[in-house]
Amino acid sequence: MTTTTLPDQNAAEQTFESFGLDARILRALSEQGYTKPTPIQAQAIPVVLLGKDVMGAAQTGTGKTAGFALPIIQRLLPMASASASPARHPVRALMLTPTRELADQVYDNVARYAKHTDLRSTVVFGGVDMNPQTDALRRGVEILVATPGRLLDHVQQKSVNLSQVQMLVLDEADRMLDMGFLPDLQRIINLLPAQRQTLLFSATFSPEIKRLAASYLKQPVTIEVARSNSTNENVRQMVYQVEDGQKQAAVVHLLRQRAEQGLSKQCIVFVNSKIGCSRLARHLEREGINAAAIHGDKTQTERMQTLEGFKNGTIDALVATDVAARGLDIADMPCVINFDLPFSAEDYVHRIGRTGRAGASGDALSIFVPGDERLLTDIEKLIKRSVPRGTLEGFDPTGEKARQEDSDRRRQRTDVRRARGNGDGEGEDRRRRHDHGGSRSAFRPSDDPFFSRPYEPSPNSASAKPADEMIAAALSRGRQAPKRPVAALLGGAPRKS
Ligand code: AMP
Repeated sequence: MTTTTLPDQNAAEQTFESFGLDARILRALSEQGYTKPTPIQAQAIPVVLLGKDVMGAAQTGTGKTAGFALPIIQRLLPMASASASPARHPVRALMLTPTRELADQVYDNVARYAKHTDLRSTVVFGGVDMNPQTDALRRGVEILVATPGRLLDHVQQKSVNLSQVQMLVLDEADRMLDMGFLPDLQRIINLLPAQRQTLLFSATFSPEIKRLAASYLKQPVTIEVARSNSTNENVRQMVYQVEDGQKQAAVVHLLRQRAEQGLSKQCIVFVNSKIGCSRLARHLEREGINAAAIHGDKTQTERMQTLEGFKNGTIDALVATDVAARGLDIADMPCVINFDLPFSAEDYVHRIGRTGRAGASGDALSIFVPGDERLLTDIEKLIKRSVPRGTLEGFDPTGEKARQEDSDRRRQRTDVRRARGNGDGEGEDRRRRHDHGGSRSAFRPSDDPFFSRPYEPSPNSASAKPADEMIAAALSRGRQAPKRPVAALLGGAPRKS
């Protein structure tokens, strides 16, 4: 595969008018309040208008959706028709995304940009009734946004015909592969005309993504607004080492510290497992912090309510797993906290990509415990920089000081016992050690019975499905096969085999 890398085209001087976009699109953009293109738009729009394939390394929040949607709308305009006949509205542009949230977001953008034109668009994703989607498809749309599984359901039901697709967008392609969509993608692409324009966007460029691009893109132009697998310069990253067992207290400390400094209280806290997610949210609430958990055991309605609460400010800390947080469009996220370092370094890039969007600055704070060093090394290798280490007042990162004090005290007591010629007193010694252990750090063991109860998934739980998100993450690291349950868990792709 040969690729062309585009020189930076004086992004600062570009305007939407300078791309030759139609007045109807420009009007929609001005209604959106967009005054000038973002760097990815400045690079992508002219290339897509030329009909070239694109391999775009762009994180969410860079404006990449308009980067592909605007030129696609422009290119489809000559084929727009005011006719009511479905035959005059075949699917000409297909945009595939990994999750329903992202699909909905992309569709929402497309609909806004195309609102003054006769082009029709719709979105299909799993987890909801197929019938209204079928009706919309049967009426005819030029632009279809879809998650792969549900799209194949519609293909099977013959409610959609993809034989006239001229443009294909693979959005968050790395996520689609992580979620096991490769076979579905291959089936879908096989249904499309070979003669088409393909645009692939990905936050990270793993060897699998490069292989996908080599298979389906023709001499793509590589567009990069940030180095691939890099993190945004506007994001202040910091890691704090604490002792195992102090992590919850450390998050509380960080959130209180931010509040004291007058910084926004809103943040997303990432946790690797669903059970850890619920526990942390509950702990934060007990500490007086408005928190809510969002993970795969929550119903779509619960997730939407939580998200709404977060957006309207009644929830300050959104405690989320990677899978649940994927595709959430939360603008101006001031802070991301990693309660757990992610198992996959690429997830770190995704997680912290939620802050520092559209030029704003943000904080990405991570907590790690002894034993997590390898995860941190992997992250630093991927982002090609070291993450500064910070200290948290009142927290003993290694437990070394406490251990030293403990051993000094033990030695003193042994000396006293020796002097008395009495070796008994171990019970008291143990008790004292225990008391000391309890007071040496900011960690207070919880007396809430919730924390000692075994985990019980909610009745809506996807527990019938075999994979927990943590296992799925571990599997995805190992590039192993059965990843479908994660998509199903999300409702992104419930499939009849
Ligand atoms: P995206 O990366 O496509 O998810 O876009 C992130 C956010 O930036 C969305 O809320 C867009 O509406 C917004 N956006 C995209 N392009 C522009 C622009 N040129 N000017 C201002 N906001 C934009």
